[in-house]
Amino acid sequence: MKQQKTPRLGIPEVVREGFCIGCGSCAAQSAAATINRNEYGELVADIQDCNQSELERMNVACPFSDAAPNETELARAAFGQQPNIRFGEEVGVFTGLYAGYSDTYRKWGSSGGIVSWLLSQMLNDGLVDKVIVVGQSGDNDRFFDFRVVDKSEDLSASGTSFYYPVSFDRVLQYVIDNPGRYAVTGVPCFHKALRQLKANNPLIAERVLYQAGIVCGQMKSSFYLDYLSRKTGMDAMPVAACFRRKDESSRADDYLFEATYLNAFGIEEIRSVRNREIGASWAMGLFKPRACDFCDDVFAETADIAVMDAWLDRYVQDGKGTSLVVTRSNALQSLLEAGRESGELLLETVSEDDIIESQRGGLNHRRVGLRYRLFLDGQQNPVPRKRVQPSNQLDIWFKIEQRIRSAIRKKSRLAMRRQLKSGLGGLEIYESEMKHVLSLFKWFSRLRNRLAPKRDYKPQFRLDC
Ligand SMILES: Cc1cc2nc3c(=O)[nH]c(=O)nc-3n(C[C@H](O)[C@H](O)[C@H](O)COP(=O)(O)OP(=O)(O)OC[C@H]3O[C@@H](n4cnc5c(N)ncnc54)[C@H](O)[C@@H]3O)c2cc1C
Ligand code: SF4
Ligand code: SF4
Repeated sequence: MKQQKTPRLGIPEVVREGFCIGCGSCAAQSAAATINRNEYGELVADIQDCNQSELERMNVACPFSDAAPNETELARAAFGQQPNIRFGEEVGVFTGLYAGYSDTYRKWGSSGGIVSWLLSQMLNDGLVDKVIVVGQSGDNDRFFDFRVVDKSEDLSASGTSFYYPVSFDRVLQYVIDNPGRYAVTGVPCFHKALRQLKANNPLIAERVLYQAGIVCGQMKSSFYLDYLSRKTGMDAMPVAACFRRKDESSRADDYLFEATYLNAFGIEEIRSVRNREIGASWAMGLFKPRACDFCDDVFAETADIAVMDAWLDRYVQDGKGTSLVVTRSNALQSLLEAGRESGELLLETVSEDDIIESQRGGLNHRRVGLRYRLFLDGQQNPVPRKRVQPSNQLDIWFKIEQRIRSAIRKKSRLAMRRQLKSGLGGLEIYESEMKHVLSLFKWFSRLRNRLAPKRDYKPQFRLDC
């Protein structure tokens, strides 16, 4: 029998070193693996009860294990046979690139409502029986989670972006237990896990027919929901929440966190806080799981389609929202083209450069910054094998910024845990612990803008393998 080679970073090390993103692919393969919320509000795997043969099987479908093929290999295997396929170093393989929106779904969507429109079309055209999306769950431990929807009219409740830890564990069990044809939404690392799971599990491959990817710059722990809630002035958990309520009279990047609370008389009260009041937290990486600092797939390269916000000057002025789209499967591209023909979608083609430009910040962090983080953290402890190589050859300004961001990420987890554990309302403890590191970041950013030579890191967005 062929001996399986032990990977340098296998599932036990992924979990031990904090690289687990809680995707749930391992839990779908063994009842001994479970996904639980840790004390930092992150979903992580518990694999203590798994035996060696289970671990070896799970290793190949864990997005952070060295035993898994990388995104380029998976995408080429999935889409490489299509005659019109092209390969982009940054966006991955693709057949078409678009900008657009659905008039019907954009009001509920994060950007142009393209993902929800596409899923509704798949249901209406009978391409799938059910779609797996994210929405509010009844579980106290998971405010939001994946859910199964079989009617297009129910999709409005699951449009928009959920900056909240979710897991495939329960819905994959649903897929295993319930025959049917499914389409699934997810962030890039979840699609990587699913693609590899399908390669090793014929039942899941037969049932999950389409993977709709949403571009992802970072995930947030459940602390983000606590933090935003408290920013609206409430200490109690909301009964409903939306991370991206649009203000159609403003710009697309000027959105609100909006939550509904029950007041002392049982009456619903809606409160909100504007993105620009908390916006800096996004770039600084507050409450971000460690895995996201070791991820090089910005464009959901293994999904049949990848959809993102159109962060380009010509679209961002429109507060109703516009999506950019990368298609990889001809079936979904045809669906989009048919939507354009029928007038249900407003769609125009864009260039590869447009797509790259719109995600410049994410590529700076996840391709260029990643090289430095691999170098830095890899000196002490094992780090995942990525498609870019560790490097210390970056300018000093860039390196200092990476170090401060990393400190903010780590500190925010500890500070919010202390705040919540204290039982005190508000954010006083959190803010007092974060004060110095956030001031340092702001001071450094101003200094860098004033003194550092302007650099274009685009040539370094490319892969090393
Ligand atoms: C964690 C996270 C990080 C993001 N980072 C970026 C970024 O860096 N750059 C960028 O351009 N855009 C980012 N987005 C936004 C994302 O690209 C948009 O969801 C996308 O533009 C689709 O918009 P839409 O209006 O076409 O889709 P919609 O019609 O809003 O549909 C979105 C679909 O995605 C599902 N979904 C939402 N959140 C999740 C989740 N956490 N896991 C799985 N499925 C989910 C919804 O249930 C819905 O079915 C991020 C979203 C998330 C959740
Ligand atoms: S498969 Fe997913 S949930 Fe399991 S250890 Fe890997 S990242 Fe974590
Ligand atoms: S940044 Fe990467 S690792 Fe983090 S959730 Fe998004 S795709 Fe997954």
